[in-house]
Amino acid sequence: MKVLSVASECAPFVKTGGLADVVGALPKALAPLGVSMRVLLPGYPALGPLLKEGKTLWEAEHLPGGPARLVSVESGGIDLLLLDAPDLYDRPGNIYLNGDGQDWSDNAQRFAALSMVAAKVATGALADWQPDLVHLHDWQAGLTAAYLHQSENPPPCITTIHNIAFQGLFDPILMTDLSLSSALYTSEGIEYFGRISFLKAGLVYADRITTVSPTYAAELMQPEFGMGLEGLLSARSADLSGILNGIDLDVWDPENDPALAAPYSVKRLKPKAENKAAVLRRFGLQPGGDGPLFCVISRLTTQKGLDLLLDALPALVSRGARLAVLGSGDAGLEAGFVSAAHRYPGSVGVIIGYDEPLSHLMQGGSDAIVIPSRFEPCGLTQLYGLRYGTLPVVARTGGLADTVIDANEAARVAGCATGVQFAPVTADALEQALMRTCDLYAQPREWAGMMRRAMRHPVGWDTSAAAYHQIYADVLSTRAAQE
Ligand code: ADP
Repeated sequence: MKVLSVASECAPFVKTGGLADVVGALPKALAPLGVSMRVLLPGYPALGPLLKEGKTLWEAEHLPGGPARLVSVESGGIDLLLLDAPDLYDRPGNIYLNGDGQDWSDNAQRFAALSMVAAKVATGALADWQPDLVHLHDWQAGLTAAYLHQSENPPPCITTIHNIAFQGLFDPILMTDLSLSSALYTSEGIEYFGRISFLKAGLVYADRITTVSPTYAAELMQPEFGMGLEGLLSARSADLSGILNGIDLDVWDPENDPALAAPYSVKRLKPKAENKAAVLRRFGLQPGGDGPLFCVISRLTTQKGLDLLLDALPALVSRGARLAVLGSGDAGLEAGFVSAAHRYPGSVGVIIGYDEPLSHLMQGGSDAIVIPSRFEPCGLTQLYGLRYGTLPVVARTGGLADTVIDANEAARVAGCATGVQFAPVTADALEQALMRTCDLYAQPREWAGMMRRAMRHPVGWDTSAAAYHQIYADVLSTRAAQE
């Protein structure tokens, strides 16, 4: 089965969040099931060496934003198709935002071009390869479904929602420039409150829709979470599935992680203490002490609920716990954590920035990871936490609800708890969850049992890859039956 995957980011080449991890993991996870996947990505500067090394398959004349070529190259076991369009993608800094933190003013053209090329490849532009189906990720790839809808005999497509908060909304004046038929600009089509919605295009014209956890799939059909698309998703509920993300068990392996100070395993937990000492040093926190070391590794945004953690800090510090925060984002939250580190020296440490190796060390050296998200489609950091025996303290929402087993009385008696959940997502409920975590930490046998259970919890791709494969097969057989 040949699948074209279309996305704006893909680890390890270019990453701003969990989307990249998933797009990078799927080809390897699906290969053993007989899926040959090519990943189409914009040719950002980070991909410069691969653009030079690759082979030009196709040159485009009429794309928005100047000349372009499609380059084929294999790297890190992933078969890439890179859209080399310097006017659109060859610019420094963030892939979505300019130096002032605003969306690039031509994001509509940048991601419409990606989608146009995806649709061309899907409908036979390449001499020796045509996919059986197309898998679109988030709004940046969404218009592909509209272009396929406008084509003759398009292959089927599925769209995965990684985060419905990002929809790709643009002025309808662009319809003609983006080669979109005006017939699509209706409330049943790609119109969303007077704008073009790239994500909605991906949802309306896809054969199937997936999102990244069963709970988020259910939440998306409710007004609190659906961000205006709950009606559409409810109407398509029979076509909507939630499939949990997995993690790369080779990259996230406490027995074999170059970023750790000492390797450890479910059978040899002791060396985790050396990693804890390293994290405490790195964040300027007091060594020793009775309380747990909590960590946060996150974008600092309202979604992630970290303002609630600032409110809960006095209680956390007074229990003798410590907190290490790695993240960047909203200026107000960054300032809030920096000033908390000054207010509670030795108890709260903050590093503003993005640091992949440090995030590994923190997973290896912390006792618990705090994720108080207001909504969380899947979340990856709690999965890394489980794998590293760093118990997740999570809001009961989206994928967090689906992956962490709360240490309530029933779960403790049954011996299946792997972390702590709380609801509603308020500072009070978070504070209680943190205090409950401190109580559990004070019972070393209970805590060690939870660590071992967490580390054995399956967080790889096996089950989810099979679920994607099943959807691909269903879509293809439905299409074959229609022909
Ligand atoms: P989202 O995609 O909403 O940001 P996820 O939990 O799905 O949240 O994925 C976030 C990914 O980015 C994880 O791999 C996490 O480890 C990583 N990450 C987030 N912030 C940082 C940071 N400051 N430094 C290093 N890695 C980070």
